[in-house]
Amino acid sequence: MEVNHEYFMQEALKLAELAYNQKEVPVGAVIVRDGEIVGCGYNTRKQNQNAVLHAETVAIYNACKKLGSWRLWNCDMYVTLEPCPMCTGAIINSRICNVYYGAKNIRAGACGSVINLFDYPFNHKADIKGGILEEQCAALMTAFFENVRTERKKLKEEQKALNTSDNTSQNLAEEA
Ligand SMILES: [Zn+2]
Repeated sequence: MEVNHEYFMQEALKLAELAYNQKEVPVGAVIVRDGEIVGCGYNTRKQNQNAVLHAETVAIYNACKKLGSWRLWNCDMYVTLEPCPMCTGAIINSRICNVYYGAKNIRAGACGSVINLFDYPFNHKADIKGGILEEQCAALMTAFFENVRTERKKLKEEQKALNTSDNTSQNLAEEA
């Protein structure tokens, strides 16, 4: 049976959108076995102030729980962004077979961008395929970081305005 990679990436994208709406870096992941989603996750690092809560680790956690096994036998992962070294490590440790990702992660990707951990002789090798719905996945990231920049700029301007008014009132006080 031909697997519909775009369908599952679309599901991962929906999770990434949940992260986006919660002002988290928008990454979503699903784990699939025999055409069925057995684990979902999205990045909740900021709201939980926990560095390990990436989309992939959350999805692996949920899939292990559902399947009652640390070994995710015959499972594939769909993730909107190329996994980082931590998540690639978790993919190796959970024995996921195939990883399909959307956008490249040029600054932290460990499946080819910064490094390809699968080029090294670890005890498990997953097959990697990038570029699934790449444009949509990348567009969500771009929109997120543009918002962050706009909000930062707004905050700076507000602080600047506040400082100016502080100075004005200070000046008036000094003058009085
Ligand atoms: Zn990660």
